[in-house]
Amino acid sequence: IICVEVPKLKLNNGKLMPAIALGTYLGFDQGGVVKSVNKQLANVVMNAIDIGYRHFDTAAIYETEEEIGEGIRKKIEEGAINRDDIFVTTKLWNTQHKREQVPLALKQSLNKMGLNYVDLYLMHWPIGLNDDYTFSDVDFMETWRGLEDVQTMGLTKSIGVSNFNLDQLKILIKDASIKPVAIQVEVHPQMIQSEIIEYAKSEDMVVMGYSPFGSLVMRYGMQFPGPKIDEPVLVEIARKYNKTTPQVVLRWQIDRNVVPLPKSTNLKRLKENIDIFDFKLEQHEIEIINKFHNNVRYTLPSFWQTHPYYPFEKIDNPQANPFLNKRKE
Ligand code: NDP
Repeated sequence: IICVEVPKLKLNNGKLMPAIALGTYLGFDQGGVVKSVNKQLANVVMNAIDIGYRHFDTAAIYETEEEIGEGIRKKIEEGAINRDDIFVTTKLWNTQHKREQVPLALKQSLNKMGLNYVDLYLMHWPIGLNDDYTFSDVDFMETWRGLEDVQTMGLTKSIGVSNFNLDQLKILIKDASIKPVAIQVEVHPQMIQSEIIEYAKSEDMVVMGYSPFGSLVMRYGMQFPGPKIDEPVLVEIARKYNKTTPQVVLRWQIDRNVVPLPKSTNLKRLKENIDIFDFKLEQHEIEIINKFHNNVRYTLPSFWQTHPYYPFEKIDNPQANPFLNKRKE
């Protein structure tokens, strides 16, 4: 493949979102955030643009904004693209949930990226935290007013949320002056999110699916139970279309109107992951993949589960809070 032409979805405010985004969360290790080595990520972004990626998903907490901005700016300087060919999504971190903090937070992100607007600004979690990572009592509706402010100010073209559950999303939509264009949640064969997808469709919102490969790939350096890259059910579908199983799983998301956010820093896999727009799954194949659903989440910050706005099901033995540990060091 040379350069894939990625289709675009129309958002409820008339703007267009490319149907797949490059995920750019490089992970945390015990000492904190894993940083990109030797500007690797800026080069990945430039390669990604060459092969057709037009949408980049980042967040203030990932510490990748600088390099994403650098890659995009270099490609604009080269004349390969214009700013309005690219769709940039970033996210507000939990410690900046007060209404008046939101413009400052987005300006910080824009400064790091060297851009004067983003295309989509998401509230990363409904959970507000103080600077010391203790729970704050800022309501997510107050934070949403801040997101509405930054759209009105022109710092972002669109606004949305991430990691809201269905009830929280309904509360938000009921009170919002500006309706969210998108909700970003975990979507993969073990977490198919049918309810949120259906509700989003009824509200003309886009679902963005994070961790799209689920158990197909290693997570936190480990294999988890669930369909693997050589799962026979997926291999059979992949053979039929002359594709790989990761491509089938990404296409399953496209065919369910989910914008997948596959992360790769490897050129071969970058190409593989975007080469999914020349085939389409049949309904019964979508349903075969849906059957892997077993409610497994790989992002489950149970250390926040006593927060009043924790969005997920509570578990018996919550994890220790890694953010608090980080502070003590
Ligand atoms: P992914 O499901 O994208 O998996 C990434 C892993 O899969 C990497 O180890 C990558 O390795 C590997 N990989 C990529 N392509 C292939 C392939 N074709 N075949 C085999 N292995 C492959 O997981 P993430 O958790 O990173 O999620 C994706 C993105 O979603 C994040 O980067 C972030 O942008 C977003 N996200 C948002 C969250 C939120 O709270 N809103 C939470 C989590 C993620 P390699 O790089 O070597 O190819």
